[in-house]
Parts: sequence; C-alpha cells; structure tokens
Amino acid sequence: MKIIKRFIMLFVILDNFILNSLKKLFFKTNWVLGGKCKQCGSCCKRILLKMTRKQIESPFFTKLSIKWITWLFDFILLDIDRNNHYLAFTCKHLKPDGKCGNYFWRPNICRNYPLVDYFEEPKLLPECGFKAELRHRV
Ligand code: SF4
Ligand code: SF4
Repeated sequence: MKIIKRFIMLFVILDNFILNSLKKLFFKTNWVLGGKCKQCGSCCKRILLKMTRKQIESPFFTKLSIKWITWLFDFILLDIDRNNHYLAFTCKHLKPDGKCGNYFWRPNICRNYPLVDYFEEPKLLPECGFKAELRHRV
C-alpha cells in the first residue's frame, strides 16, 4: 500500500510544483511572504480543509473524504465543523519538537502554507515566522 501512496503523492507534488511555477512566472499575487518557517509545528496541530456546504451535508462524501485524506496524508480527524464547512485534522508525522517527520512526502497543503491568495492578505498564525508583505510593482 505504501508504494501506491508514494506513487499518487509523486503526481500530487509534481502537479503542485508545475502550478506554483506557472503562478510565479505569469500570475503574480499582490502579497508575498517574507521571513521564514521557524519549524514550530503550530500549523500542523489543527489543519483545516474547506468543503462546500453540499459536500459536508453528504455523509457519504464526507466519510469518503476523511478516509482518503487520513490514508493518503496520514492525517488524523479531530472534528467536523459543519457550520463553517471544515474538516479539522492533525498529523501523525508531527514530531514533539514541532518538526515534520515526513518532510519530503508532505502534502501540498503543507507545501503551500501559508497560502498566498489573489484577493486577500494571507492569514498567518500569531507564532508563525513568515510575514505577509505587499509586492512592490515596478
Ligand atoms: S506532513 Fe509534516 S508539515 Fe504536513 S502536517 Fe504533517 S507534520 Fe506538518
Ligand atoms: S506556523 Fe509558520 S513557522 Fe510554524 S511551522 Fe507553520 S509555517 Fe513554520
């Protein structure tokens, strides 16, 4: 099973790499990230995955999503926020010192955190070592 998981993750990681490279080249965001990761592990303690209202109202889809995410990413379900449409997970690779025990194979949600959106200032945890800065356009 591990080999299948690795095979799927290779495609997922490659897809993310290509998409991020294209964004950097052609679709620049207004915000950029300064600073760096302090490897505090705070963002791995409660990972929120957004769903649509229709998705979270479907017991079948919700169950399937949880099964897929816990299997592929080794996440552990914490709770389901039905009001705001989130699945909340933690991760079994988070080490006691806050570091990642699966760094090379970490999912895209980890690779892309903190997420830099096109329309909003990035939302950072207070203890995060990154900071959002406005891009200076020439
Ligand atoms: S895979 Fe690593 S970076 Fe991602 S949530 Fe788990 S411990 Fe954190
Ligand atoms: S909260 Fe920020 S500094 Fe801490 S591990 Fe996550 S990205 Fe790194």
